[in-house]
Formats: sequence, C-alpha cells, structure tokens
Amino acid sequence: MESLDIRKRPKTTGALLFVALLFLYTPSDGVPVFDSERAFTLLEKQCAFGPRVPNSAPHRAQLKWMTAELSKLKGAQVSLDSFTHIDKRRKSSLKLTNVSVVFKGKAPGRRLFCAHWDCRPWCDQDPNPNMRNTPVTGANDGASGVAVLMETCRLLSQSTPPVTIEILLFDGEDYGMNDDQWCLGSKRFAERIKKSDYNFAILLDMIGDKDLSIPMEMNSLNLAPQLTMRIFETAVKLNLPAFKKQNGIAIYDDHMPLLEKGIPSVDLIDFDYRYWHTTADTPDKCSKESLGQVGKLIVQLMYE
Ligand SMILES: [Zn+2]
Repeated sequence: MESLDIRKRPKTTGALLFVALLFLYTPSDGVPVFDSERAFTLLEKQCAFGPRVPNSAPHRAQLKWMTAELSKLKGAQVSLDSFTHIDKRRKSSLKLTNVSVVFKGKAPGRRLFCAHWDCRPWCDQDPNPNMRNTPVTGANDGASGVAVLMETCRLLSQSTPPVTIEILLFDGEDYGMNDDQWCLGSKRFAERIKKSDYNFAILLDMIGDKDLSIPMEMNSLNLAPQLTMRIFETAVKLNLPAFKKQNGIAIYDDHMPLLEKGIPSVDLIDFDYRYWHTTADTPDKCSKESLGQVGKLIVQLMYE
C-alpha cells in the first residue's frame, strides 16, 4: 500500500525520495511492515480449498498447505497436535489438529497469538432454509485470522522478536450447536500448557470484514482489563480506525479456555457481520485494508 503512495507522488529529487523510502520501509522502532496484499492472498488461498470442515478433503488440504508453508520459514518451530473428538450426539468422530509455530525471542517471555482455521459444517444462519446444511466458506470466519497470522510468521522469520512468539492455529472452534462442542482445539490446548509460560494471548476472529469495526469484547474487558486497554490504546496510537474503544458484547470464543486457565487473553472480533454462518461469507466481503489494520496492530504487539 505504501509503495503506491510513492508512485503517485510528483517527481522529486533523488535525495528526497530516498528519505521517503527510508521513512516508509525502516520504521525507527524496528517493527516490521505488515503486507496486507500478501495477507489477502492467503485468505483467498484458504477459501479456494473449499470449506475446511473437519474430516473433509479441503480440511486435509489446508492442513498440509499450512504445515508446508510454515515449515519453510527460517527459525519457525512447527508442531502439530492431532487428536480425536468423539461427538456422541451426532455419532461421529472428528480428526482435529492444532498447529503451533514458535519463533524464539531474544529475552525470556512468551506471547501467544491465535486464530481458528476450521470452518463451520452448517450455514445455519443462512436466509435460505435450503442452504442451512451447506458448509461455511469462512472467508471472514476462519480464513481472515489465519491469513494475518501466517503473514506475521513470514515477518517473524526475517526479524527476531524481543520475546518468544507462539502462533496457535486452533481446529474445531466452530463445531458447536446448542451444546458445549465449541472451541475444541483451544480447550485441548489450554489443558496441556502451563499458565506461567505465557505473558498474554491475543485471539483474532472475524477480522476481515470490509466494513471492519472491532469494539472491546466484554469477556476480555472484564477478565483481562489491562491487556484490553493496552491493545486499544496502541490502536489509537497507530491511528487504526477499525478499533473502537467502546464496550462490545460478550462472546464465548477460543480466548475463554485461556482466560479460564488464568492467562490474560483478549478476543479481537467484529461480530457485527451480516454474512456470519451463511453461504455468503466469501472473500468479496473482506478487504486487504481490514487485514492491514489488524496486521499492523498485531506486529506492533509482537515487537514492542
Ligand atoms: Zn463461526
């Protein structure tokens, strides 16, 4: 995005252009520049597999692709935690996999950034009743958070963060239906970690909407008030208008098992999305500008 600005500028002296380039590409605080164009390509790529519903071919294809892409990155420690969820109600057994990527930092400490990579098996909010058993494509609900985090992994492989950064891509978030079968991957993860290993956790969910508006999610604000304020104040400093320092609704999401574990955790989510759990949750409803705002904030929180 920034490079377009330069091209639009009238012709100027070489020295001035050099200063402008230096300013745009080498931020003085050493925080890498998030590439929203690349992030959007990662969102489209995921949707091109088809709905990544557990036990389906697109789900297997996406896991293979994510693992291969992340393993290529210098300094990335990729590990997979595969497990089976038995759904007694619907008499099925789901093969699920959490993907963890760790980039070692210079100093002690560990910050967790997460998103869910699975898609919902049913468009149960679709206006057309005949479509309610169709799986969700999940451009916003799933792919958006993964796209931003995968792009940050590329930056983390190029520039060592101050403390260790762990990226966690949860499976089985969107399988619940009037029951407790939501957030299967994050529940599994929270059971297996030590609270003291983590400084904080930030969750991205539904952050790709073209008309992006992220208020302070109420469970985050009530249970992790300091972290919530820090994030939203950082967004103000970075001049990111999608983040609204006002109270949102309370949402049960992948941050809850982490909060229950005692890790300060915040869910960045725009729940005001009319295509939520419908067949219309497709890439054309999302924008690279929205991914760019979230990416810029996340990179800042990784490197500050
Ligand atoms: Zn969902």
